[in-house]
Amino acid sequence: MRRKLVAGNWKMNGSLAANAALVAGIKEGLAAQACDVAVCVPAPYLAQVQALVAGSPVGLGAQDMSAHASGAYTGEVSASMLQEFGVQYVILGHSERRAYHGESDAAVAAKTVAALKAGLVPLVCVGETLEQREAGQTNAVVGGQLDVVLAALSAEEAARIVVAYEPVWAIGTGKTATPEMAQEVHAMLRARLGAKSAEAAAKVCILYGGSMKPDNAQQLLAMGDIDGGLIGGAALKAADFLAIINAAA
Ligand code: PEP
Repeated sequence: MRRKLVAGNWKMNGSLAANAALVAGIKEGLAAQACDVAVCVPAPYLAQVQALVAGSPVGLGAQDMSAHASGAYTGEVSASMLQEFGVQYVILGHSERRAYHGESDAAVAAKTVAALKAGLVPLVCVGETLEQREAGQTNAVVGGQLDVVLAALSAEEAARIVVAYEPVWAIGTGKTATPEMAQEVHAMLRARLGAKSAEAAAKVCILYGGSMKPDNAQQLLAMGDIDGGLIGGAALKAADFLAIINAAA
């Protein structure tokens, strides 16, 4: 019922030449897809990748945005600027931004509101650290991160977000949550969405992210509440990204 989404998070990687080769490889290998596909690229490459994906099933995403509409916010990029470059998705609250840029739950919530107002689909990232998991705090931390965002949204808006569960200890480490571990958290997140609205629980895609690779994607994506993936390292190689897309389709 929910169409799966596989989104690549390129992080701070790429060059004009590497992007052209990567997108060409993805487009070449894409069959008629039964899932949605997107690439979330560094801001300076939005115009380039907008042109590269034009007319293809590959959607365009950004990796962050400001909660403000315009003004004296040096270095920031607004939702309407992203929109002008054909951006459909924006990653918000990635654990790297929370850790290195001090992004709070409240900031992520404000950005989510601004993204939705501009017609963008926010990919709202939540996830626990290893210490928090080992202390038995996973549901409280991850559920709490989502609750702050949901509290800022109407029921109708809540149904238009995408959630990405990304355990911090699994990002870029080669350690993946088992399908059962991930499913347990995804089911908890869906219940939180359900407390906001039945429509949100039914409609919202909950992606898994954290060392998803061609060899573990199928088992993860087979779980009932895992509706796709947010892919870091494996999104930088067309063959690996395509293998994950095929596992989702
Ligand atoms: C990410 O950073 O969103 C991510 C999931 O990275 P990786 O796949 O490399 O763990």
